[in-house]
Amino acid sequence: MRALTLIADRKLELVDLPPPPAPGPGEVQVRVKAVALNHIDVWGFRGMAFAKRKYPLVVGAEASGEIAALGDGVSTFKTGDRAVMYGALTCGACKACQEGRDNLCESVQGIMGFHVDGFSRDLVNMPARLVIPAPEDVSFRDAACAPIAFATVEHMLFDNAKLQPGETILVQAGGSGIGTVAIKMAKAIGCTVITTIGDDAKAEKAKALGADHVINYRTDRFEGVVRKITAKKGVDVVFEHTGAETFNGSLLSLKRGGRLVTCGATSGPTATLNLMQLFQQQYKIFGSFGASMRNIRTSLAKMSAGLLPVIDTEVPLADFERGLERLESRKVFGKIVVNF
Ligand SMILES: [Zn+2]
Repeated sequence: MRALTLIADRKLELVDLPPPPAPGPGEVQVRVKAVALNHIDVWGFRGMAFAKRKYPLVVGAEASGEIAALGDGVSTFKTGDRAVMYGALTCGACKACQEGRDNLCESVQGIMGFHVDGFSRDLVNMPARLVIPAPEDVSFRDAACAPIAFATVEHMLFDNAKLQPGETILVQAGGSGIGTVAIKMAKAIGCTVITTIGDDAKAEKAKALGADHVINYRTDRFEGVVRKITAKKGVDVVFEHTGAETFNGSLLSLKRGGRLVTCGATSGPTATLNLMQLFQQQYKIFGSFGASMRNIRTSLAKMSAGLLPVIDTEVPLADFERGLERLESRKVFGKIVVNF
């Protein structure tokens, strides 16, 4: 079978690997159909000194496929069913896993495609409990965006920031994969959405997704524009993932008692925080990583109901690297999906 492996930092190779054995008890074998790219793939591709892992490593953290074979004791699937896979090998035994909050697993073996072999291969065996059924009316391409992009945003907005209908939200980097999802999910419940972009060409696209206000953060100080738009009050929620460059401006964009939720630091991991401002303004800051099983099921249901991912580019498996380069270039608007 085909497998795309990282053999050194920034060095990918499409290789022929023996297919996996028949799935063991409690496992399913999935025929992978689509892999969606995320910033974690870029981090993984570049290589990270602190990440414990061994080369070669099969890449790909977010994927969809169909059930090819069932191990003993698996009754939740039949062959041919559509499914998506959880993006980490969680233990299944700790309290968090038992409650379906696998992103808080106490003994996770690693993130797929980053610490342990990922999904960019024709066939993969997975514990059935980490495989989530996907509706027949959602394409493999779209379903591939559910386990990380959609579910991460679902978890950030609704579990952590507790975004309510009618609230105002600032979505940083509205053209990114998760930014586009955040705009659509917030609009779907009737929020006012302000978003930032780094390129005027993206403004119309962000408006087409429903953004009420679009700010080019390269030409305007976004926090000043946000205060103008909100009549100096600030927003209820900021959706952060850009990190160092924007974090303080994001805090300044919040109203008193506002909530900031973050899941990334693409512009750098370190920011300073004014503690006086933090407590006087009564900000609530949430770190968010990954998603629960329920978030993935909800994401797929939203897709089935018509809330679909924005797809920037589709590439074949052999062009995975071209997809990563596009993601790194920040020209991207929406998700990049690798088709099998
Ligand atoms: Zn666990």
